[in-house]
Amino acid sequence: MTQQQTAGGDVRLAGISKTYGSFTAVHPLDLTVPQGSFFALLGASGCGKTTTLRMIAGLEEATTGTVLLGEKDITDLPPYKRPVNTVFQSYALFPHLDIAENVAFGLRRRGIKSVKKQVDEMLDLVQLGDFARRKPHQLSGGQQQRVAVARALINHPQVLLLDEPLGALDLKLRRQMQLELKRIQTEVGITFVHVTHDQEEAMTMADTVAVMNGGRVEQLGAPADLYENPRTTFVANFLGTSNLIEGEIVSTGSDLVVAAGGGKLTLPRERCSAPTSSGGRLLLGIRPEKISLAHADDADTVAAGRNRVTGRITDSSFIGVSTQYVVESPAGTALQVYEQNIERDTRLVPGAEVVLHWNPAHTFGLDAAQDID
Ligand code: ATP
Repeated sequence: MTQQQTAGGDVRLAGISKTYGSFTAVHPLDLTVPQGSFFALLGASGCGKTTTLRMIAGLEEATTGTVLLGEKDITDLPPYKRPVNTVFQSYALFPHLDIAENVAFGLRRRGIKSVKKQVDEMLDLVQLGDFARRKPHQLSGGQQQRVAVARALINHPQVLLLDEPLGALDLKLRRQMQLELKRIQTEVGITFVHVTHDQEEAMTMADTVAVMNGGRVEQLGAPADLYENPRTTFVANFLGTSNLIEGEIVSTGSDLVVAAGGGKLTLPRERCSAPTSSGGRLLLGIRPEKISLAHADDADTVAAGRNRVTGRITDSSFIGVSTQYVVESPAGTALQVYEQNIERDTRLVPGAEVVLHWNPAHTFGLDAAQDID
């Protein structure tokens, strides 16, 4: 354990917004980042996530609103007076200084002479103890990124901001670094706010993810909650693959019954974010891996109480961990189905008439008035 910190408090954004001329990059935003959490701002390019991060850092002046750290209003503090540090995608290491001196930089600038113990601690934290005397160009991209993290942590910030820190790394290294950053965050115990456009990265690392779209947070929650219960079509499509089937509510008990996909499908009321009155139109969502397939000849083996839709397989691809099918329903909707652990000789082939069936508890309902991205 190197520097477990408890000072600070939650980061709270209250009505924070940013406009550039007539363009609104971030609409007024209320957001709390719990102290000690790993928080991800996730969204496509241009959605306002970097601007939000930069307003926390003080690198961008907010047009409206306040930034609070615990009870302290830091809105008007310049970046260097905020107990916050940022790691950028570009690393921004000093090429002429060795790794130890790069890490020591923040301490030296504050006039601290005796830095060895803290630098050694930081290099151990990022597992680069043996690299202290190398220059940045003698390290791999992932190692350089770890130096940038060590350099940002040595001043004991209360919040570490990470702006696409893994963007320049190849996929394999990025996956390693995701776990590495998570380990470091757990060890130091301070708040990390991580900006990324990569949904897998956000879901692997973060305790809480805020999905941004068009300068607003569309949904905020734990990764599994966002994945299992998306509340907008944007979130349903941005986090993984969703099948969305148009339907109409025909009965409104504790479960809703929806005419969709050529049948009557059950939707738990609490999983519906669309208006729930009878006759209302909505989109029914189901994740591809939640669906099972039976050959039409075996339709009577499907247990009662499951949602079912008939269709014909139009494509099948084996991708190692699963077989991915495309099934066309009579209504013309193409549905994706991922099945795991099927033996080669039991795989269904294009042209096969099938029944898709799933547990109604996995179904979610979305407002059909929203655009599907
Ligand atoms: P990326 O992943 O591409 O960095 P982002 O989600 O982080 O995207 P921001 O950098 O926050 O997006 O930018 C949000 C919007 O604000 C974009 O449309 C961008 O063009 C615009 N923007 C950012 N900085 C400025 C500026 N200085 N002047 C005008 N518009 C800006």
